[in-house]
Amino acid sequence: MVKAIVGANWGDEGKGKITDMLAADSDIVIRFQGGANAGHTIINEYGKFALHLLPSGSFNRNVVNMIGNGVALDIPELIKELDDVVARGVPKPNLVVSERAQVLMPYHKLFDKYEEERLSDRQFGSTKSGIAPFFSDKFSKIGFQVWELFDDEKRLREKIKNIIEIKNLMLEHIYHKPLIDADELYNELRGYGEMIEPYVIDSVQFMHHAVKSGKRILLEGQLGSLKDPDFGIYPMTTSSSTLAGYGTVGAGIAPYEIKEIITVVKAYSSAVGAGAFVSEIFGADADELRKRGGDGGEFGATTGRPRRMGWFDCVASRYGCRVQGTTQVAFTVLDVLGYLDEIPVCVGYEVDGEVIRDFPTTGKLERAKPVLKKLPGWKCDIRGIKKYEDLPENCRNYIEFVEKELEVPIKIVSNGPSRKDIILR
Ligand code: GDP
Repeated sequence: MVKAIVGANWGDEGKGKITDMLAADSDIVIRFQGGANAGHTIINEYGKFALHLLPSGSFNRNVVNMIGNGVALDIPELIKELDDVVARGVPKPNLVVSERAQVLMPYHKLFDKYEEERLSDRQFGSTKSGIAPFFSDKFSKIGFQVWELFDDEKRLREKIKNIIEIKNLMLEHIYHKPLIDADELYNELRGYGEMIEPYVIDSVQFMHHAVKSGKRILLEGQLGSLKDPDFGIYPMTTSSSTLAGYGTVGAGIAPYEIKEIITVVKAYSSAVGAGAFVSEIFGADADELRKRGGDGGEFGATTGRPRRMGWFDCVASRYGCRVQGTTQVAFTVLDVLGYLDEIPVCVGYEVDGEVIRDFPTTGKLERAKPVLKKLPGWKCDIRGIKKYEDLPENCRNYIEFVEKELEVPIKIVSNGPSRKDIILR
């Protein structure tokens, strides 16, 4: 039985918590895309953790945590994260890494940084984790799969020599930066190889047998639908697919095996990086929501940057659920809205004098103005409530309004950052 947990919005929907919760009933948790460029926040009996690459099942002894072939594998970062959780008293996670995962190279981070510097005021707002250069290289067929790090020496040296030729031309003529030395890079990659080899497996065989023997498998998505390179706010997206559908490729599972797609939807909006954000708010309203948002404020888990804030966006979230193929929604951070007398929600976009309800392509999106509707607030703290019926009436009305707009059932409501703040419907 394969389930996927993915985001409907711009990321930071609270997927980490829902994954951590569902990981307890899973045998295998898999990261299938992205890299160390976003963070999941998990709060459990060991403390508070920001995971960037480790799958969210890492706190459960009985779970095998897999880095799938679709991930941008930053080896030193992964090993550091592993060491960090162990140092904080977590039993060593059971980790495996696909031999086909590609390696995030030291120069990917440099090129990410140099390119953002070159773009200056036109920059993407990259986390500078090397993700865009990594995926460019993967699809230009000049990436390195993990197995290459500890395979034939001559082959690896030859490949390095060929690939740094173009990299050094760019460093010299475009960015005017120090060049890459082939021997140094070779030694660095061999070092990576030694670090990662104990975890590397043939993930295709592993997954084949896991599915066949009925293992409970959880695909863990990073970021959300609106950051998907095909369906998101292109080009202000990430560089690998954030959709559940890609989970079958990035983990190596047959498409028809995914039976449940749990899409995490946030009760208000937040986004990092540049790009259209129709329901965005500014000034004091934004500061207040940012301060109260998430667990201790809405600041990036990877960069610490203040997140852009906005009201709930029905147009974007319905679309976000639709492109995921959502079977049920987990509605999160609802407790945060308890301070408002009235809660604005965006129910349509006004574009070129017309109101639309279907999420448009980027040009129209950039011209869109939000059509807002105000719902009555509930003016109290809902943390600690365990049963749906015990939520204040206006709070239930808010959930039910959103559910109707999303056109998919909300089955999980998250009313606080900790694992126990959860209401099942
Ligand atoms: P992810 O990338 O989707 O996993 O999102 P994050 O891990 O960045 O989660 C966003 C923040 O919201 C984190 O600080 C979580 O601890 C916090 N969080 C998750 N669910 C809830 C909730 O229901 N209420 C509140 N107040 N905070 C939550």
